Amino acid sequence: TFRALMIEDQDGKPKTAFRDLTIGELPDHDVLVEIAYSTLNYKDGLAITGKGRIARRLPMVAGIDIAGTVVESRSGQWKPGDRVIVNGWGLSETEWGGYSRFQRLKPEWLTRLPEGFSLKDAMAIGTAGYTAGLCVNALEDWGLMQDEGAEILVTGAAGGVGSTAISLLAAKGCRVTAATGRPETHEYLSSLGASAFVDRAELAEKGGPLQKERWAGAVDAVGSTTLANVLAQTRYGGAVAACGLAGGFDLPATVMPHILRSVALLGIDSVMAPQDKRDRAWATLAAHLDKQHLTSIARLEPMSNLPQLAADIVAGKIRGRVVIDVAQ
Ligand code: NAP
Repeated sequence: TFRALMIEDQDGKPKTAFRDLTIGELPDHDVLVEIAYSTLNYKDGLAITGKGRIARRLPMVAGIDIAGTVVESRSGQWKPGDRVIVNGWGLSETEWGGYSRFQRLKPEWLTRLPEGFSLKDAMAIGTAGYTAGLCVNALEDWGLMQDEGAEILVTGAAGGVGSTAISLLAAKGCRVTAATGRPETHEYLSSLGASAFVDRAELAEKGGPLQKERWAGAVDAVGSTTLANVLAQTRYGGAVAACGLAGGFDLPATVMPHILRSVALLGIDSVMAPQDKRDRAWATLAAHLDKQHLTSIARLEPMSNLPQLAADIVAGKIRGRVVIDVAQ
């Protein structure tokens, strides 16, 4: 048997518990993967604490990220020994996920481990970092990186998406401003490439529909009033890649930045992103993410600490990324 973190139904409410499973109890998908590491994302925090209804089928093995090695495969696409990653695809929602020593998965969910990354590196990046890659590519496709030193704002800066986005954008020659509520992280964020800071409280207050134009573009992990203000501060022709809701899922905004300044709101989803977008995001990470930054962004924790870590990430207390050792 091996241990897994499960979300179960207890009198109509989701409850989290560690359970012993056997391979025979796993879903009947074509590829059996031995998981080396998983990670902790904001969404995992919501699932484990029950603060968000992430699991839509119970019992559910939580964990939206996987890095591991193929053990058995009924698909011609994969063979034993292949090193693979999985991000999203409904894991922890409708499909059993990564907080387990083994998992059976559909072949089309697997991405080959990009060259130059170890399994642990891939999980130091995880869904949060891969989403930062999607955001940076979306801004680049909008044409924002052509000018050296484009001013880009990153909100939720000290979190997983934010930290990785800062490192990538700085590597691409942007001038990065970090919006954070934690001044104690300024030194860390500067080391990743942030050159200026905004107090997140400033962005959380309701502002006018068109404010002083400050940013060529932005990566927003926060949503709500913050995103409305970021749109209102984006320069003519700029774009905001919106991927998160750490500050709320509402959007109390007006159309003014869009119709008077041609500002674009680029929606970013990582869960069902097609394989070519995933490959491009991972290629961006492989080419531009500084390995030393990755070491300072991520820390390793045993799976047994997940209940506490989940409460911490939902409370906004986790800096950077947490890699989960599923064997401990
Ligand atoms: P995280 O590590 O917890 O980072 C979130 C950051 O947001 C925190 O570190 C904090 O930054 C800031 N924050 C937290 N609570 C806030 C509040 N009430 N008001 C304003 N800012 C607040 O989470 P993550 O894993 O990076 O994910 C970030 C967001 O992106 C989450 O909402 C997540 O669900 C979303 N996401 C979406 C996708 C997608 O497919 N669209 C993929 C990955 C993540 P500071 O301490 O620096 O202020």
